[in-house]
Amino acid sequence: MPSTNELSRDGFFGPITASLDWCEANYQFSYYIAELANTLSNLFTLYLAIRGAKKLRQESLPGRFLVGCIGFALIGAGSFAFHASLLYEAQLADELPMIYVASMSIWILYDYQLGFDLSSIQTKSQVAFLVLFDALFTWSYAVYRNPVYHQLVFAALVISCAIRIAYLLNWSPVRTRIPDSKKQVIAQMFTTGAVTFASGFLVWNLDIIFCGTLTNWKRNLGWPAAFLLEGHSWWHLLTGLGTYYMFIGIQCNTLCIKDDHRKFTMAHRSWLPYVKRLDK
Ligand SMILES: [Zn+2]
Repeated sequence: MPSTNELSRDGFFGPITASLDWCEANYQFSYYIAELANTLSNLFTLYLAIRGAKKLRQESLPGRFLVGCIGFALIGAGSFAFHASLLYEAQLADELPMIYVASMSIWILYDYQLGFDLSSIQTKSQVAFLVLFDALFTWSYAVYRNPVYHQLVFAALVISCAIRIAYLLNWSPVRTRIPDSKKQVIAQMFTTGAVTFASGFLVWNLDIIFCGTLTNWKRNLGWPAAFLLEGHSWWHLLTGLGTYYMFIGIQCNTLCIKDDHRKFTMAHRSWLPYVKRLDK
């Protein structure tokens, strides 16, 4: 992991207690914010979460999606706190909601019975399993504080989501509930999100591997232009946008399977897509 470099200073939150520190120098620009670019880039995630939630309310879409948006906002807020402070508690506020949102997305994709009420035994069992999974992960991560453990579980959940949505669209018994034209739009939306997310993961790795070189480049380039070389901030922007796109794909897929595909369509307002209700 990259450690602090000579541009780093001491700051308001004291010594780093998080199990991770990123390539961006600490407290370089503010006594109160450890990593300025890595902190402020989370405002984009918060914007996407609020924007997504507003659209869900406008279109009167099921509450489970709103819960997903709240989780998405919590990731942004937790990550903001983590990068501002580099404290272990704030790191958990970033990392744990990532697991909760990803595992909830899997539940959304497994619950393919008609209707959105939670009263059936099957749905109740699924929700109980989800809560148990999240509780077990929280406990195990509190005991075994290896960030690689978190990263592997998160990656497994995201990959499982992609496999599940491919199965639902192509091979599942419920695939006939969605016409081919709509399947294509859903697949495109989800794939755009997944590719954007994966490119964020690539930059996340490059930022760690080439931190020394990047730091030299930043120094030569000078700020504010050097902020563009903060790879971890790009990870925030790309995974935020990728998550938003994948979530819209999941929403449209779920609504077509559990309700009626004729009631919903994918629409765009400015540059961000959303699911529009046609039976209002
Ligand atoms: Zn981060």
